[in-house]
Amino acid sequence: MGRLRDRLARSNSAFGRGLLAVISKDEMTEDDWEDLEDSLLQADVGVAAATHIVEQLRTKSMVEGARSSEQIKALLAAELTEALGADWDRSLTTNRDDGPAVVMVVGVNGTGKTTTCGKLARVLVGDGNTVLMGAADTFRAAAADQLATWGERVGVDVVRGPEGADPASVAFDAVKAGKAQGIDTVLVDTAGRLHTKSGLMDELGKVKRVIEKQGPVDETLLVLDATTGQNGLVQARVFTDVVDVTGVVLTKLDGSAKGGIVIAVQNELGVPVKYVGIGEGKDDLAPFVPEEFVDGLLQ
Ligand code: GDP
Repeated sequence: MGRLRDRLARSNSAFGRGLLAVISKDEMTEDDWEDLEDSLLQADVGVAAATHIVEQLRTKSMVEGARSSEQIKALLAAELTEALGADWDRSLTTNRDDGPAVVMVVGVNGTGKTTTCGKLARVLVGDGNTVLMGAADTFRAAAADQLATWGERVGVDVVRGPEGADPASVAFDAVKAGKAQGIDTVLVDTAGRLHTKSGLMDELGKVKRVIEKQGPVDETLLVLDATTGQNGLVQARVFTDVVDVTGVVLTKLDGSAKGGIVIAVQNELGVPVKYVGIGEGKDDLAPFVPEEFVDGLLQ
C-alpha cells in the first residue's frame, strides 16, 4: 500500500502541481475555476468529466462555505475519487475450482502488452498464485522471446509454439498445460496488429473460442498506453467491440502528465482500470486504487 501513491506523486507531478497551483488561492475567482477546468482537460480527463467535476466543486464549496485552499483541496480530492469510480469492482479472477482461471491480455502492439503480462505474472505470484504464460503473439517473432525472458525474470513458465504457429493453438496448449499442472492462472499474451478490424476480430475471436473448448475465459484485460490520449481511446473501442473486456491496464503512467486519462477511459469504455503500469521494471505494475491515486496527485 502507498506504493502507487508515492510513485504517482512523482510521475503525476505536472498534473498535480497544476491543480494545486490553481486552488491555492485565498478565494477562487471565476478565472480560477476556468483554470481548474483547463488543468483537468490538459491531463486528458475529458470535457464532460472536467465540466462535471468543476461544477460539483463550485456548488459544494458554496453550499459548505468552503473557502480555504485546504477545504477546496479536500472537496477536489473527494470529487476526483468519485470521478475515478471509487466503488467499482477492480478484482481479478485468478483461480477457479475446476481448472485454471484464464486471463487474455489484448491491445495494440507497442502499448506494453508483453511487458504487462510479465509484470502481472509477478504480481499474481506475489499474491500466492501459481502462474503460466502462453505466448499467443506468434506473428511477431520477438514477442515470444520477449515473453520467455519475462518468464525467466519472474520465475514463471512460458508455453510457446514454433514461429508463425496458430495463436489459438498456442493458447489452447497453454491452458491445457495449466490444467495438467494444476496452475491457478494462465495469462495469454495475444497479437495486436490493427491492420483490419475484421482480421483482429477473427484472430481474437478464434483464440477465445479455442480456449473455451477447455473452460471459460475469466478475464480479458485491455492494455492501453496512457500517453496516447484520445487516439488510444479510439483503438480501445475496436477491442471492446470485438471482445468482452473486463478490465483495462493503463501503461506508461510514469512520467506522463496525462493521468486524467484514467477517468476518460473508464467513462468512455465503461470498464474499470484494474492495474497501472508505472515503469519498465518487474515491480512496476500496481493495482489501481482511486484513493491512492488522488492522494498521490494532490500531495
Ligand atoms: P507490446 O508490443 O504491446 O507487447 O509492448 P511491449 O511490452 O513490448 O512494450 C513496448 C515498450 O513499452 C517497451 O519498451 C516497454 O518496456 C515499455 N513499457 C511497457 N509498459 C511500460 C510502463 O508502464 N512504463 C514505461 N515507461 N514503459 C513501459
